[in-house]
Amino acid sequence: MRGYVNIEAEIERMLRHVRLPRLSNRIGVDIETLMREAFDFDVAYIENLELRGRSILGLLVPERRLVLVEARDLRERQRFTLAHECGHLILDFRNVGAASLFGDAFAQLFSCSATDVDFSSDSASWKKRREILSNKFAAQLLMPADLCIALYKEGLGIENCAQQLGVSNKACAIRLAELGVISRNW
Ligand SMILES: [Zn+2]
Repeated sequence: MRGYVNIEAEIERMLRHVRLPRLSNRIGVDIETLMREAFDFDVAYIENLELRGRSILGLLVPERRLVLVEARDLRERQRFTLAHECGHLILDFRNVGAASLFGDAFAQLFSCSATDVDFSSDSASWKKRREILSNKFAAQLLMPADLCIALYKEGLGIENCAQQLGVSNKACAIRLAELGVISRNW
């Protein structure tokens, strides 16, 4: 395991190179367009996605510039999965080509199961560090601190904040708790 990774700095670095596309409400991040246009990755939705007999929510295949996403999943979770795979792309591959932050051991692909793409379970000791970092990346990319707090403080609640950002209520509540805006007992 390498040293501390500053996710916010990694996102800032990424945003120096790419323009962040927005959803039609001009608030939420259009993560699919980001993957397609900024990184030139194909995004395909596949039913019952699995790898070697194991169900997965997302699969990043850098060699083919391809991301596969489980087609039956909820839209908000698919978006989080895409942002999570984007995290692998930036954090683990340094946007493909350059040396990976984690060395060559994981160079081929990332298959991400429901427990990997679970923003709420990042305290599990067995969880691999790179999955935790990708989840943090996804959360910060889709729910930037200032924007998330501002939307919540408009007074319309967690559901409104989540809807505007195109994330699940659960992901939004976890992020707001992490930012100290609401208590953890939501
Ligand atoms: Zn993953």
